[in-house]
Amino acid sequence: MAPAALTPVSPPSPTQDNTSKLTKAGTEAILSQTVSNTAPSVAELVASKCTFTPTVKPKPVPALDSPEAYSQTYTTDHMLTARWTESAGWEAPQIVPYGPLSLMPTASVLHYATECFEGMKAYRGVDGRVRLFRPQRNAERFLKSATRISLPGFAPEEFLKLLKRFVGVEARRWIPAGAGDGTRFVYIRPTMIATAPALGVQRPKEALMYIIMVVFPALDEPRPQQSLAQATSNGHANGNGALSNGKGASPSASAKGMRLLASQHDMIRAWPGGFGNAKVGANYGPSLVAQGEARARGYDQILWLFGDEGYVTEAGGSNFFVLWINEAGQRELVTAPLGDGVILEGVTRASVLDLVRSRKGDEAVEVVERKFAMDEVVRAAEEGRLLEGFGSGTAFFNAPVSDVHFRGLDVAFPLGTEGGEGKGSEFAMGIKDQLKGIMYGRVQHEWGVVVEEEAW
Ligand SMILES: *Cc1c(COP(=O)(O)O)cnc(C)c1O
Repeated sequence: MAPAALTPVSPPSPTQDNTSKLTKAGTEAILSQTVSNTAPSVAELVASKCTFTPTVKPKPVPALDSPEAYSQTYTTDHMLTARWTESAGWEAPQIVPYGPLSLMPTASVLHYATECFEGMKAYRGVDGRVRLFRPQRNAERFLKSATRISLPGFAPEEFLKLLKRFVGVEARRWIPAGAGDGTRFVYIRPTMIATAPALGVQRPKEALMYIIMVVFPALDEPRPQQSLAQATSNGHANGNGALSNGKGASPSASAKGMRLLASQHDMIRAWPGGFGNAKVGANYGPSLVAQGEARARGYDQILWLFGDEGYVTEAGGSNFFVLWINEAGQRELVTAPLGDGVILEGVTRASVLDLVRSRKGDEAVEVVERKFAMDEVVRAAEEGRLLEGFGSGTAFFNAPVSDVHFRGLDVAFPLGTEGGEGKGSEFAMGIKDQLKGIMYGRVQHEWGVVVEEEAW
């Protein structure tokens, strides 16, 4: 091919921020592109139509440090479901006893990965009230993920009302008030799948939205011994987006910090123009080989790199931050940018950035969202400028990183080398305390959204 025949195409320039789609304008833009999904003549998702059929057999609620909690499979009493069809739109949502779904073997989701999900938590606050954390962002991201894989659109506000109703129903038994105030939470998994029974490769004509809740141990705390006795071994610092169930990291992983294995050239999580910025199952299945290898080699997670430059993107299902002294001698927090669609826009990530950007005076730290390469991290470590690394996400808050294995090099973060209790992770832990303060209502903040409970 003669070079003259090639038209040079310049890559999109990396943007700093304001690429977030998780805004009202972003949501409206998404909805306007997906009107064909929900033609005006068909029914919208309407929360007020939701019915509730209470279970007649409430399940026992396991203790937080029990093997059941660590199994991450123990669901609450109910689930919320809403069916959609192309011809009629959204049917009335229902809260019904938890149980299996019925699907045709030809269902689109089973063949073409037409699935997306969310991950969030509901917290029992110090004041006895139940809160969600910035749930509007999850609602908007859920819409964005769904429409990325041609699942039907919906008004995020209606989804949010449904979510609150469901949490309000389950909270009394599953995040009981009293001794649990200020510590207790459940994990919430909104999901959407294409149920249409057709093998033809096409936009699905039927879908199911559902929300389930799972009892979850405090994954950011060291694991108590008794929970290890008969538990099916669970990963500890095992990411946030999807919850893995593999032979796990050591029980004290969170006390020691996460150990990360940098990905190799032959395994890429996401790429520009792909779907790494959508919370879809299709991002996870293909990553499990690398994840399994990391576990087998004694690491907790893969640190996903991208491109020949070895750009740092995410750690497992968490966003990834480095705190260092930059080349100009300033304390700086750096994380991968949103612009090229390679990373997921975490709610925790956004909150870390917002909190740190609002710090003043002695506390002030430069904050940059930019592409940064593993080589820069290595150089910072060699020059003694590396201060902290941490993964951020709903399941583990801010999980400090102790070391990263990268092409034969072990890059130690101060937490790992200087050993002492939590030494070197003050920054990550400080942010975590601030976030927890909001989640558990110690601090009144607009990010903590109170849910009204419903007796049944
Ligand atoms: C869910 C997820 C995160 C974390 O997002 P939060 O909203 O902070 O929980 C990060 N990366 C990936 C790939 C994810 O799926």
